[in-house]
Amino acid sequence: MSKTLLLCDCLSSQTVDAAALSKATGMACAGCHTSLCTSQIDIAAKAIEAGDVVIACLQEAQRFAEVVEELEVDAPQFIDIRDRAGWTDDTAPTTPKMAALIADGMLPEPTYRSVDVVSEGTCLIIGAPDVALATAQSLVETLSVTVLLTPGADIVPTHEYDVMLGKLKQASGTIGQFEIKIDAFQQSLLGGRGTPGLTAPRDGALSHCDIILDLTGGTPLFPAPEKRDGYLRADPKSQPAVAKTIFAASQLVGTFEKPLYVRMEPTLCAHSRAEKPACSNCLNVCPTGAIFSVGEHVSIDPMICAGCGACAA
Ligand code: SF4
Ligand code: SF4
Repeated sequence: MSKTLLLCDCLSSQTVDAAALSKATGMACAGCHTSLCTSQIDIAAKAIEAGDVVIACLQEAQRFAEVVEELEVDAPQFIDIRDRAGWTDDTAPTTPKMAALIADGMLPEPTYRSVDVVSEGTCLIIGAPDVALATAQSLVETLSVTVLLTPGADIVPTHEYDVMLGKLKQASGTIGQFEIKIDAFQQSLLGGRGTPGLTAPRDGALSHCDIILDLTGGTPLFPAPEKRDGYLRADPKSQPAVAKTIFAASQLVGTFEKPLYVRMEPTLCAHSRAEKPACSNCLNVCPTGAIFSVGEHVSIDPMICAGCGACAA
């Protein structure tokens, strides 16, 4: 059953072309009313009771909701054409914009999509030994901690958390699924007396963790670092900032909902359509680095996308 459009010109304060809107939207419309929320409320009530009605006024939705409650029927749909198109100083005809607003309002609600991300609390801490080791000590009760110190740093033997040496070469991923590559990697060998021994250094060691706590005070590991879930940074010279980050890290254990913000539509993408790099606009504007070129097409990592909308603008 097609919907009925209920129009009102708000005491003649806007021009509403009912016939044109009915034609443009394909919705039945019995002309334009002038005070649906007051003296013509009976007309509104009758239409609401008949069902499948769209009222082109959002301002008085509450008044119409009272009618719905009295009649015990389904609520109508509301679309604002008055404030968004009718009341304008623009001299251009308003009918096309009103028709577009109504058509837009009739589109199905986009489906909310999300996935669960699990963080088991494995946390990599990077930074200078004093602050990194003290931070590890604060988190051992809640997280499974590993500290990465730069090659040559002194290792204090402990069974409470892991300490390794190396240079963090590369990091990718997000909460629950970070991947890291470490050069000059050395693991401590606990046992015996005195300073623990170390494995022979090796490049390209790979590891995984759920959380990265960056206390280096240096360049962030990721673009738009504040948008990277599970990546926490603090200025190591600021005790309050470090304490705040320790608390934030301690909360990152469990299952989290990750909204899936974007959907790649290859037919709209010049790069994918041409099957070769032809346009890089969205790659250039994406602050998180979630969009990348994969040979003949463009791909988006939905786990990294922060939903800023820049690529869709
Ligand atoms: S507020 Fe809405 S229903 Fe009331 S007169 Fe204005 S347009 Fe009509
Ligand atoms: S919405 Fe687009 S631009 Fe923004 S983070 Fe996601 S992919 Fe990047």
